Amino acid sequence: MIFRTRFAPSPTGPLHIGHAYSAILAHDMARAADGAFLLRMEDTDLERSKPEWDTLIQEDLAWLGLSWDGPIHRQSEHVDSYNARLDTLAARGLLYPCSCTRSDIRAALAAPQEGVTHQVYPGTCRGRPMSERTPGDAIRLDLSRALDGLEPASLVFEETGPSSPGTHMLHPEIVLRTIGDVVLGRKGDGIVAYFLASAFDDADQKINHVIRGEDLFDFTPVQVILQHLFGLPTPIYHHHRLIRDEAGTRLAKRDDARAIRTYRDDGATPADIRRMVGL
Ligand code: GLU
Repeated sequence: MIFRTRFAPSPTGPLHIGHAYSAILAHDMARAADGAFLLRMEDTDLERSKPEWDTLIQEDLAWLGLSWDGPIHRQSEHVDSYNARLDTLAARGLLYPCSCTRSDIRAALAAPQEGVTHQVYPGTCRGRPMSERTPGDAIRLDLSRALDGLEPASLVFEETGPSSPGTHMLHPEIVLRTIGDVVLGRKGDGIVAYFLASAFDDADQKINHVIRGEDLFDFTPVQVILQHLFGLPTPIYHHHRLIRDEAGTRLAKRDDARAIRTYRDDGATPADIRRMVGL
């Protein structure tokens, strides 16, 4: 099977050096394997995504010497299809509308949960019928019901990145405790959550190798569960190290000083960028 990977930036700011590393790595791995390297714009944040950033990202990638195969896939053009697919889970009774605010959730969680670094939804709205949904509601997955029909041994993924390589088995009871009823449909615009759109796209674009930053590792179990619920294949994952500054701080997206455009303006060459990220 031909190696197919992608670079999936959100066009909400300039391409910075951390993204450049991700793009170069995925591109080089695809080319070394005689495979395909695709470009996807994750632009479902309709307020923050801008065509100017989309154009600049393309220019920066081309300047870095990276070429992508086929047309650019823009998520904003596929929103209806994502939402239609999410509706099939509603028909299976796996979704419910949720009107809780962040402070409602904090108040319902009496004590911090052990081994969990983010807030796991306490299930306040679980069981509410979808017919009660109002535009202000988010849509959550009833994870316990969703896991009910799943073969536990099927919840598995392969990781080839440096931090936690190997086979990762997802145990339903741990997943329930650490992930919980995730939001799949955002409140307000009703657009599906980023990690669901991304899972649909990886399948639609026939991606069999996902190469991305370590900061996204924690989304992988959720995506694997969603792939099983929707009958999609699970790609092989490679989460790479993050590019940090001299003080060891992760480079923020808004750090314009690290934008590729700034380096270009300052006279850097693509080879300089590769050297800076350790390639
Ligand atoms: N759009 C995400 C980002 O810019 C990447 C998602 C992914 O690679 O799966 O961080």
